Amino acid sequence: MSAVKETSKNIKNAPTTPNRQWLSLGVALAVPFVAAAIGGRATGKSVNTWYRTLRKPAWNPPGWVFGPVWTVLYTMMGIASWQVWRSGNGPTLEDNTLVEPAKKRVVNGALALYGVHLGFNVFWSVLFFGQRNIKWALAEIFVLWALIAATLVRFYRIKPEAGLLLVPYLLWSTFAAVLNATIWRMNRGNLLARLLQDLALRLCRRSIMALVDLLNELAEWPVLKQLWEKDPLALGETAFSQRSKGLQPRTKTADKVVPSICPYCAVGCGQLIYVKDEKIIDIEGDPNSPISRGCLCPKGAATFQLVTGSHRVNDVLYRRPYAKEWEKIPLEQALEMVAARVKKTRDEHWEAETNDGHPLRRTLGIAHLGGATLDNEENYLIKKLFTGLGVVQVENQARI
Ligand code: SF4
Repeated sequence: MSAVKETSKNIKNAPTTPNRQWLSLGVALAVPFVAAAIGGRATGKSVNTWYRTLRKPAWNPPGWVFGPVWTVLYTMMGIASWQVWRSGNGPTLEDNTLVEPAKKRVVNGALALYGVHLGFNVFWSVLFFGQRNIKWALAEIFVLWALIAATLVRFYRIKPEAGLLLVPYLLWSTFAAVLNATIWRMNRGNLLARLLQDLALRLCRRSIMALVDLLNELAEWPVLKQLWEKDPLALGETAFSQRSKGLQPRTKTADKVVPSICPYCAVGCGQLIYVKDEKIIDIEGDPNSPISRGCLCPKGAATFQLVTGSHRVNDVLYRRPYAKEWEKIPLEQALEMVAARVKKTRDEHWEAETNDGHPLRRTLGIAHLGGATLDNEENYLIKKLFTGLGVVQVENQARI
């Protein structure tokens, strides 16, 4: 019930009109600039006085750079927070889907963290320019950096584009931390400053490496790959993942390939039997077969299972006369017994000639009935054998 109420509340509060969308975007953009204005009050007091007197590294950017850079960064921050806010306040204009209460809680948590980080952003200006305390500003900027990174990760999980919008901000903050540490060292010159500067440099390196990883990940993004390879429908190599690129058919490793015929029915589709280490590893249709041209019906395609399946009977079962149980006997013994019975029956029922002396050379004591799984070659051999024995009733389901 509470979930239904929550959903109704979401729908009620949803920014479903373009006006509300623009309003929410305006608020999201205004928030970081308000924070900047508060920090600017502290900065304004010292930037043209005390700050000018500090010793700074040669790579310190000229003063006019900071304004445009921060304007761009605050704008990106505002857009990112707006995108995240919209994810938690559906139905949205983008996909018209309802937002679950659980997702809304995640979004609110991320926005709260964003707000805390903005407070630290302002606080750094207050410490550095307002209080002119470079050391504590340096300590504070490490906390600020961690908050930015945490906000970026949370934003990225909710909406990847929002997280990416904070990447330049994280890089700039890393640079600012290095600059802060260098200024402190140059103006104080103690060991702790150098340690903090090293730490800042390491952070810088790590964030660059993280950025490279991120770019590599992005390069694997299917849409980008399709655009880059000019394959908009993803019908070419862009459809491959790294895993599927490394795949190869199991038939590729076969030691030899033996042509054969499907054992199931009299159509006689061609097959290729792939053998490795004297074991069958696969059975496929033979593209050179004039009958099937590489195709197999579902039954024929399952021939591999017929040959290798665990249910396949490999022993001959024999029940002796008057016995109640079946016993397993070797195939060779079974064949000997069948041959002996055929000979005995043939001898007992042999008809050499008719009553008036015409040659017959036949037996009616044996008949052969074949099934549809027999193929041409097998039927040829059966016909040849049984006709040679004088058997005249040779029948096969497929009558080939
Ligand atoms: S069972 Fe299927 S694959 Fe095998 S010969 Fe008949 S039609 Fe062809």
